[in-house]
Amino acid sequence: MSFLENYQQKGELLKVYTYPHPVLSKKSLPVTNFDERLKKLAQDMLYTMYKAPGIGLAAPQIGENIRMFVIDVEFERKKISRPRIDNPELIEVSYHLSNFHPRVFINPKITRGPELVKCKEGCLSLPGVYEEVERAATVTVEYHDLDGNLCELSAEELLAICIQHENDHLDGVVIIDHLSFLKKNFHKKKLIKRQKLTAAQNGRYLDGNNECNDDDEDDEDENENAAAEGGGNERKI
Ligand SMILES: [Zn+2]
Repeated sequence: MSFLENYQQKGELLKVYTYPHPVLSKKSLPVTNFDERLKKLAQDMLYTMYKAPGIGLAAPQIGENIRMFVIDVEFERKKISRPRIDNPELIEVSYHLSNFHPRVFINPKITRGPELVKCKEGCLSLPGVYEEVERAATVTVEYHDLDGNLCELSAEELLAICIQHENDHLDGVVIIDHLSFLKKNFHKKKLIKRQKLTAAQNGRYLDGNNECNDDDEDDEDENENAAAEGGGNERKI
């Protein structure tokens, strides 16, 4: 039985690469080996996605230029606050995740419907960026599952948006590539500045290709800011 059925949060936390790391701008190659390594990678990607938290994660975001992404637009995440056992005056915060619907798409081929929608999107590789992107409202996607079987899925609403966002990653495209030159440059500068700051905080030497990873706490802050800005509807993809 596949680990996707009766999904349990198991796996390794992978490093999520942030823009402008070159791995995010490359066109990824099709998957040809449907082996145990691929299953392990998909499992680790899902684990990393849920931990972030995000609703989608594409292989280039964790440094692998292969045509695979994972998605779950349905899981629920509940914040639990309780007094710490060792010091009841302090509050310990944790998160309980449930209602998992993990999906793995390999070598996807997308057919877009005619209707267009605009939706504000965030991305785990572009911390702090939430921008409106125009996408097809519906898609049909042909893809391989982890065993190499050919599958087809028709999607609408958030799932359709998420599939297009993740598929973009496989072609080296991120959300700011959909924006005007000025807006893209604005975000690019901010992201580079943020990266340098994180690197400096980590006490690392800076160079042109420096890459950083946000820790969990940073991601939490981003999400809370986004919730405050946009009514809590934005989720990172
Ligand atoms: Zn993304």
